[in-house]
Amino acid sequence: MKNNFFKIILPVISMAVISVILILYSKKNLTNSYSVVSNSGYYFDTFISISIYEKDEALVENDKNLIAECFNICKDYELIFSHTNTDSELYKLNISSASTTKISSDLYNILSIADEYNSLTNGAFNVLIGNIEGLWDFKKCNIPDDDIIDQQLELLFKANYTLANNTITFNNSKSLIPAINLGGIAKGYIADKIKDFLLSNNVNSAIINLGGNILLIGEKPDKELFNIGITKPFSTTGENIASVQTSNMSVVTSGIYERYFEQNSTIYHHIIDPSTGYPVQNNLYSVTIISASSTIADILSTSAFVLGADKGMELINKTDDVYAVFITSDFKIILSDGLKIDNNTITIADN
Ligand code: AMP
Ligand code: MG
Repeated sequence: MKNNFFKIILPVISMAVISVILILYSKKNLTNSYSVVSNSGYYFDTFISISIYEKDEALVENDKNLIAECFNICKDYELIFSHTNTDSELYKLNISSASTTKISSDLYNILSIADEYNSLTNGAFNVLIGNIEGLWDFKKCNIPDDDIIDQQLELLFKANYTLANNTITFNNSKSLIPAINLGGIAKGYIADKIKDFLLSNNVNSAIINLGGNILLIGEKPDKELFNIGITKPFSTTGENIASVQTSNMSVVTSGIYERYFEQNSTIYHHIIDPSTGYPVQNNLYSVTIISASSTIADILSTSAFVLGADKGMELINKTDDVYAVFITSDFKIILSDGLKIDNNTITIADN
């Protein structure tokens, strides 16, 4: 019961309270001729906010309604992709004993993209880390037994699935298949869907922020670029180590300072190395990816982190139109090809 309280009841109550105290505001920018229409909420265990930059005062009310629609989109996706919400499609798939299941087109699409990047990253990105991720409890700060990790790792190595005709088929008895966890890709995928929705409603300047997973629509109405901060890892004051100035791109960071605990000078965090079952140990504190697609930025920030500074940067540099900023454990800033930095402001070189 206590477990259920923390897993289900508490998040539901917090979500209800937070949705009541949503701050809906439209702020007139005094020096410029536009308003910022903004609202925030709490979905998939994270704060999200959407800001539409509006030049036409007559459209402000419409923008507020569009943002409310975006939150409905989040709710809908939570009911597909969440691995903790017992009503979600993924939750039901994870606990089902069937080895073949017809799935929704969104679940099919996201798993197909995840598969593609599983191959491209030689297994560094693996959504089947669900059981192992679940062993790590960052609130209780305890390290799982080696034996239990090894058992789960063995299942992970053997598990596989194929996707065809909107159906997923597992290669083994379902009880031997670890849970699927879309935490490393879902926010990016949903951000892209929200962007499509806003574009189809003629919004041409906005910031979609799903728990720090940023996706920009266009530039600011006065043609200025947006400025997205890269958090200084472990800073208690929330200061930025650098910022990215860009437009129409996604800026996504995977950092080990988000969910972690420290024991005997080792930081145990939420990005799992699928080859060991342990949180990745390397000399990186965070990886920020800049790319037009938020889905790709989300996958690659997690993947490049797992691959580490050398192999991760190699992957980014051979991928067209994708850029990266790595922050090392001694707070050095490493840029991929195609980026430049001036006074801690990072821009795409040919912009
Ligand atoms: P992100 O913050 O985007 O790097 O995502 C971290 C989340 O992705 C974790 O909380 C897990 O849900 C999931 N995850 C962790 N390690 C991996 C991995 N190696 N491959 C795919 N997803 C992962
Ligand atoms: Mg990610």
